[in-house]
Amino acid sequence: MYLKKVGPVRAEVLSNEVGIRTFRELLHYYPFKYIDRTRVHKVREINPTLAHVTLIGKITEMEVVKGFKGARLNATFTDGTGNIDLVWFKGVKWLKDNLKPGEEIVLFGKPAFFGNKVQIAHPEIEASGDKEKVLNNLKIVPYYSSTEKLKIAGLESRSFRSLLYQLLTEGESHIREYLNADIMRENKLMGLKECFWEIHFPKSWERLEEAKKRLKFDELFLFQLSLAKKKLIDMPGHRSEPFLKVGDYFNNFYQHHLSFALTEAQKRVLKEVRKDLARHSQMNRLVQGDVGSGKTMVAFMTMLIALDNGFQAAMMAPTEILAEQHYRNILRYCEPLGIGVVLLTGSLKKAERERLLAKLIAGEALIAVGTHALIEEPVKFKNLGLVIVDEQHKFGVRQRAALWDKARQYPHNMVMTATPIPRTLALTLYGDVDVSVIDELPPGRTPIITSVKAEGDRLWVFGFVRRQLEAGRQAYFVYPLVEESEKVDYLAVTEGYESLTRAFQGYRVGIVHGRMKAEDKEFEMQRFKKGETHILVATTVIEVGVDVPNASIMVIENSEKFGLSQLHQLRGRVGRGSTQSFCVLMTGPKAGAEARKRLKAMAETSDGFRIAEIDLQIRGPGDFLGTRQSGLPEFKLANVLEDGEILNLARDAAFRLTESDPGLARPENAALLEVFKRYMKTQEGLGDVA
Ligand code: ADP
Ligand code: MG
Repeated sequence: MYLKKVGPVRAEVLSNEVGIRTFRELLHYYPFKYIDRTRVHKVREINPTLAHVTLIGKITEMEVVKGFKGARLNATFTDGTGNIDLVWFKGVKWLKDNLKPGEEIVLFGKPAFFGNKVQIAHPEIEASGDKEKVLNNLKIVPYYSSTEKLKIAGLESRSFRSLLYQLLTEGESHIREYLNADIMRENKLMGLKECFWEIHFPKSWERLEEAKKRLKFDELFLFQLSLAKKKLIDMPGHRSEPFLKVGDYFNNFYQHHLSFALTEAQKRVLKEVRKDLARHSQMNRLVQGDVGSGKTMVAFMTMLIALDNGFQAAMMAPTEILAEQHYRNILRYCEPLGIGVVLLTGSLKKAERERLLAKLIAGEALIAVGTHALIEEPVKFKNLGLVIVDEQHKFGVRQRAALWDKARQYPHNMVMTATPIPRTLALTLYGDVDVSVIDELPPGRTPIITSVKAEGDRLWVFGFVRRQLEAGRQAYFVYPLVEESEKVDYLAVTEGYESLTRAFQGYRVGIVHGRMKAEDKEFEMQRFKKGETHILVATTVIEVGVDVPNASIMVIENSEKFGLSQLHQLRGRVGRGSTQSFCVLMTGPKAGAEARKRLKAMAETSDGFRIAEIDLQIRGPGDFLGTRQSGLPEFKLANVLEDGEILNLARDAAFRLTESDPGLARPENAALLEVFKRYMKTQEGLGDVA
């Protein structure tokens, strides 16, 4: 089969611009909007809420006006209930010759308002004559997104419509249903062939909804099927050594070196973890907890269990600074226990790196902490039994898998995240993982007082900061860093540094930002931590960084540029000691009402889950998690926040199917098996088109 009108040139533009290379991809190029042309309006009814109107009437006057940019055609149109103006700037001559005043026409366009006059520029005109036929053909019109280059190649909405019409007419016999009849019936799904017709050429809004539901279901179903396969088929096959005992390392630490009582939530999570570890199958557990809820302690004690059973443990963090901080903490706990720890980061010298690697292979070091340098090739362990990943959403699924390959058997796996992920998203994203929640902060923390301030309040804010400094506390000033490469952002942070140095004379100011060398950053952070500097000016590099209990105030500049979850993480850097801490969210002059509202929500709640939910609503899951990295496929139609109901249906269907026919070996699932195989290879491929 081939499509008329698509020669090599257009084929190439389609492929380059929107990634359409096959009929299947064209079929999955859904309209981005639909316009209702099923209803005829009256001129009298036209009001600013109507984006488009269809009118029947006639042109009464017509005039070509020569203007400075060429000729234009002005016309007056009436349907007996009122007049509107029509105007064309292109095709003037042809229109002048072909439009006949007094003849009935059907027109379609976008009304604009000038005072109390209505004007439609470049209306589409369905020639009169067979009015019945025109009216019968009024429909819901699909619009396809196009790009400049596509338009130049003559591929705008209209041509997509005709390509798709041709494809569906000639190719519909190639569209094969691939879901079995039970799944179709139980979930009340529209058949695939019909569904493709309806998504491109809907007969009614109801049928369009049905078609969308089917396509969303398929997107979510295939993804859930991949999770079900991982959890029910691959994972049990992932045998791991059971860690049956809790021995000296753990008990010694717990009884003699732990300086505080664990919270109930920490104890509960440790219990869940111990249960997982005692099994012959691989642990795959996500531990969620707000900033400061004590995840690291739970992680460390989990490592001790691995060590007690004769295994090594690794912990991976998203940034060098965080890896170093984990390392220092863990080292401090490990020294009295006589446990060897190594830190592996990208900035290690070669010889040093080799020395540390040798320790891991020999089993002299039992714990490795590091950044992604940990998963680079030459890292080998003697006997890796547990992997802990901090801030998992910054890594993504693939990197997790890479670390597993380091072990001879599958190590148990724990992921810690400080970004609380709402349940619906957790289900979608981590369908193959068990989830523990540390939903309690250690006692004695005073909630941080947060307020939103504008430029006009700056003097007041500085006065407030000064009083904190006078009381012996330290302060953070944080500047947004949108992109590593953004010059403007660096300018802001360095200018900020200078003006703060002037404004707070008598106090020492330090600065850290992403362009500094790791050692220099480290040096500045240490100075602040030791109290040698009083103010730390920083970009978001401190987001998951240092722990400085004496820092009691954080001022976040242009806070409207941050995501709420990020602000929440930042804010968690203060309030680490027992004194009252403060967070000031400064808003720039460009912050709109919407931004202020978000920030106000931020000031009112300190519940990370609540904030994550608001953030997710506003930004959508892609941005929230850092899209591609998240391991969450990009769905074309499904929205994991809004389509919770379809998600549940799809998840249920996928898991039940995997239980009843694990290999998709039954004849009624043969077509699905093919689609699923392709999906696993490419992550694309919904419906089946031969
Ligand atoms: P998270 O990793 O969840 O942000 P951490 O594990 O870094 O939290 O803990 C934050 C701080 O609280 C650390 O200084 C840690 O020693 C301390 N901490 C952890 N658990 C407790 C507890 N149960 N009681 C008191 N302090 C705790
Ligand atoms: Mg932490």
